[in-house]
Amino acid sequence: MPACQCLKTCPFFNNMMTGMEDTAEKTKDKYCRGDFEKCARYMVFKALGKENVPSDLFPVQVYRVEDILKYRT
Ligand code: SF4
Repeated sequence: MPACQCLKTCPFFNNMMTGMEDTAEKTKDKYCRGDFEKCARYMVFKALGKENVPSDLFPVQVYRVEDILKYRT
């Protein structure tokens, strides 16, 4: 499976989880290097573009995506 196309610039992948390295690596394996289409950040990125992905949105927070899309469209 290909990795997420956002890997190089995604704040989550690059520095959002500082101090939580174990959890970060597990999440990166699950989403960023795996099932990225299920990542909340990726969903918002695809729908609204990189500039509209909230900085505090974590990959597991899919429950927030619907509200983000409603609010920003
Ligand atoms: S899967 Fe999600 S968290 Fe990982 S790089 Fe892509 S957009 Fe960022």
